[in-house]
Amino acid sequence: MMSSARSRANTFAALELDRASELREDEAWLAAHAQSPQARCVLLDPDGRALLGADGGNLFQLDGDTCARWLPDAPASFLGRAGAVDHFAVALDAQAAARAAAESGGTFLDLRSAGARLPAFDAGLFAYARGLAHWQRHMRFCPACAAPLRLEAGGHRARCTNPHCGALQFPRTDPAVIMIVSDGERCLLGRGPQWPERRFSTLAGFVEPGETLEDAVRREVAEEAGVRVGECDYHSSQPWPFPASLMLGFVARADDPTITLGSELVEARWFGAGELVDAIRCGAISISSPLSVSYKLIAHWLRETAAADLDDVVASSPGMKG
Ligand SMILES: [Zn+2]
Repeated sequence: MMSSARSRANTFAALELDRASELREDEAWLAAHAQSPQARCVLLDPDGRALLGADGGNLFQLDGDTCARWLPDAPASFLGRAGAVDHFAVALDAQAAARAAAESGGTFLDLRSAGARLPAFDAGLFAYARGLAHWQRHMRFCPACAAPLRLEAGGHRARCTNPHCGALQFPRTDPAVIMIVSDGERCLLGRGPQWPERRFSTLAGFVEPGETLEDAVRREVAEEAGVRVGECDYHSSQPWPFPASLMLGFVARADDPTITLGSELVEARWFGAGELVDAIRCGAISISSPLSVSYKLIAHWLRETAAADLDDVVASSPGMKG
């Protein structure tokens, strides 16, 4: 399987949308199309939760015409086009959010909960809208001169209103590497101090300035578990807007499996494939939710190493609820 197919299989990563960035500069087009009956608007509350339909199985996507009548003061950000439909995101204040929920009969739900139940397109659209709205909400003043910023380009750019400055800001995405480390027979999992009891996960961390992705993998594994990694290969990526990460999954090989625990973990252990399967099945340990790249990396390793299906293993475990 190619990495493009592996990425598509990740939660939030199956959004087949033309972002049509060339349309972002056309303010007249944006204003007209945001209010069109054909437009569909994702509604977000101040906590970045999206409005779901009454049955909770889909995003509630309000048509642009009704959105302009219900919520005339809420600015719409252009997300892109899918077929003949133009998709927008509308960030609401608490009052407008309460009104939208009452009018629609739907409820606002956070992205983690929604990711497990929404169709792939809706989950991806919600992740995109949430990431953009979070940046807009937190990027309100110029980092250079502290003057207010004004959004433009359909919500994808912020310009400093100080005529002597005029600096531009763009939505940021923070790359984070996450890796399944193997010594050939076993895989390395760790446990963080804030995690639920018995929860183990692949190691992960943010990429630092001046660092390649592979160097970040080696550094993080060394810092967290003292294990020396040699070769590593890209597996897949996943948008992870909590609030602004891009998860970059890797499969890594340990040159030296000796564990020396760093300050970020309370425990790190090597698990053989059979041992890992048994530990999950009997509830001795739990792993991250299937939403995560961590889960996909463990599934990949178990499949390659022991031809075991993690979904089956988890389904027979008492403690995993997805
Ligand atoms: Zn400025």
